[in-house]
Amino acid sequence: MSVAPPYTEKTDEQKAICEMVRQFADEQIIPSAEHYDAADEFPEPIVEQMRELGLFGVTIPEEYGGMGLDLTTYAMIVEELSRGWISISGIVNTHFIGSYLLMKFGTDEQRQRYLPRMATGEIRAAFSLSEPELGSDVQAIKTSARKVDDATYEINGQKMWVTNGLLSSLVFVLVKTDPDAEPRHRGMTCFIAEKEPGVAQGAAAYAGFNVPPKIRKLGYKGVESTELVFDGYRCPAENVLGGEEAGLNRGFGQMMDALEVGRVNVAARGVGIAQRALELALRYAEERRTFGKPISEHQAIQFKLADMATQLEAARLMTLRAARMKDAGERAELEAGMAKLFASETGHFCVEESLRIHGGYGYSKEYEVERLYRDAPLLLIGEGTSEIQRMVIGRKLLQRHRR
Ligand SMILES: Cc1cc2nc3c(=O)[nH]c(=O)nc-3n(C[C@H](O)[C@H](O)[C@H](O)COP(=O)(O)OP(=O)(O)OC[C@H]3O[C@@H](n4cnc5c(N)ncnc54)[C@H](O)[C@@H]3O)c2cc1C
Repeated sequence: MSVAPPYTEKTDEQKAICEMVRQFADEQIIPSAEHYDAADEFPEPIVEQMRELGLFGVTIPEEYGGMGLDLTTYAMIVEELSRGWISISGIVNTHFIGSYLLMKFGTDEQRQRYLPRMATGEIRAAFSLSEPELGSDVQAIKTSARKVDDATYEINGQKMWVTNGLLSSLVFVLVKTDPDAEPRHRGMTCFIAEKEPGVAQGAAAYAGFNVPPKIRKLGYKGVESTELVFDGYRCPAENVLGGEEAGLNRGFGQMMDALEVGRVNVAARGVGIAQRALELALRYAEERRTFGKPISEHQAIQFKLADMATQLEAARLMTLRAARMKDAGERAELEAGMAKLFASETGHFCVEESLRIHGGYGYSKEYEVERLYRDAPLLLIGEGTSEIQRMVIGRKLLQRHRR
């Protein structure tokens, strides 16, 4: 009788990569996260090492210079990076979504032009849906593009919350191209907007593409989140994702597809931060003594640890299941939504429990869990809030039920 391998089982290749990334997190990320977090500074030396390790090309096919690995392996890597510091996974995340969009929807020419340099991390990508007046209701996007001559679109409008908004070279930006379209999502297009990394005021070919100062945040420091202001920015028609003929007014579907893999990725981040919170809690519970014994020997603390570990395990399994379904070519909106919802809430839960176990010290900047406590809430918001995940799950459940 054949026995199916457990979900947590890794191939030899996955084991080797995860060990390598875990060592990288232990030696390079965790020791310096406190510094970059406190200074809210981009961790360039860490990012440089990530380039050397090939981490920007994990899912990019080998023919373009990447590793050609699947979403499951990518999710495992993201867990290890996020265990170190979720800002590091944030630096890779939008890049991963950009490369997914190119691989799935880009023209041959677009893939050739961008993927080899994306695989090495020479150029990095951001993606931009949100605007000052909208996040959940993506179809309400106001930023618009209109054709000004045969080969050019002009983009006008304002975007919000763009992770890697300043230092990226490419922004996959969703804009309105047909204001009269009904339903609204049929009138949206994804443009590959190029810019000069690190330059706030676009000039020459990038004139009209401006990046205001980064948004000051509770946590998730180091990686910049910015607005983008498009003021007459000229974008070549050839930069419509998938080409003008195939891609015009198809952007909403393309972005929603990418968000499905993005949600697996955020789920993996929830698993990573939960794993770290549990490790810190276990260590502290053995060290700290009250009433004559280590607090780990109080049943109330053991119950907390048990709940954390149980939820963490479930979150990991759900994340890997959603990833494996995607890798098998199946639609996984329901599973990706469930994994994102559960794993991000688990990340938040475990961090809060870990903070409680640390007592007063958890509130001190001397302890790592204080940073985790400021970082974890982002996972409840980015790539669809918990409320939006429940809407997606509910809708998909009913669709499957009615079939
Ligand atoms: C640090 C950070 C980085 C980000 N990075 C990016 C990025 O790189 N690219 C990008 O495009 N966006 C990014 N975002 C934006 C993020 O995706 C949005 O913040 C998120 O989708 C929520 O949108 P909103 O903030 O406009 O909240 P709103 O949509 O205004 O929602 C406000 C509240 O109402 C709830 N709500 C909304 N609609 C419903 C409903 N129908 N039923 C029940 N409840 C509802 C929400 O769950 C939330 O609790 C980032 C955000 C943050 C904080």
